[in-house]
Amino acid sequence: MNIILLGAPGAGKGTQASKIAEKYNLLHVSTGDIFRANIKGGTEIGKLAKSYIDAGKLVPDEVTCAIVKDRLTWADAQNGYMLDGFPRNLFQAEELEKFAKIDLCLNIDVDEALLMDRICGRRVCKCGESYHVSTLNGATKCRKCGGELYQREDDNPRTVKARLETYNTQTAPLINYYKAQGKLATVTSGEGSPDEVFGQIIKILG
Ligand code: AMP
Repeated sequence: MNIILLGAPGAGKGTQASKIAEKYNLLHVSTGDIFRANIKGGTEIGKLAKSYIDAGKLVPDEVTCAIVKDRLTWADAQNGYMLDGFPRNLFQAEELEKFAKIDLCLNIDVDEALLMDRICGRRVCKCGESYHVSTLNGATKCRKCGGELYQREDDNPRTVKARLETYNTQTAPLINYYKAQGKLATVTSGEGSPDEVFGQIIKILG
């Protein structure tokens, strides 16, 4: 099963993708995570990506598509995968069709008014867990692995505003794109807790 996870920044794609990947034994491919790893490693891709990520814009399609195309040829992708954060525009969606067969696009729908607070209050761990400050009671360590929590550089109000605009103009049209293909399933309880949202996803995936 090859799945796309669609949703605005802060909709909870990363959290749900990890849960889905674990339960259904799928590879979790997050283009955002790949870019962040490249930035940390100081690679050429990282240097290029950083300027776009800091501005809340999309990293150029040719770079992003080449990374995903290559990643999906690895042995661990052959039993199915979950794409988190890709495709993010129509060009990427059309490119994806040239090298992958997508079974389902899961769209996590969240009221836009909640997103700014969700993202700016987000604290993440290098293990992939993420939290909202309002649930941490001042704690600074990850409950799962004990790692130090930090705030993503692009989780600041100015960049988030640009990311939401990028989502609305470039990514949201993918909802109709996959609907027209009969591949869209929408999770309407995106405002709920991660477990509530996951419960709805399980009902869809079976
Ligand atoms: P994310 O972790 O999915 O929120 O992505 C963080 C940032 O990485 C985005 O705001 C973009 O700048 C960049 N990015 C992630 N995925 C893509 C993609 N499919 N195409 C272009 N840029 C991307």
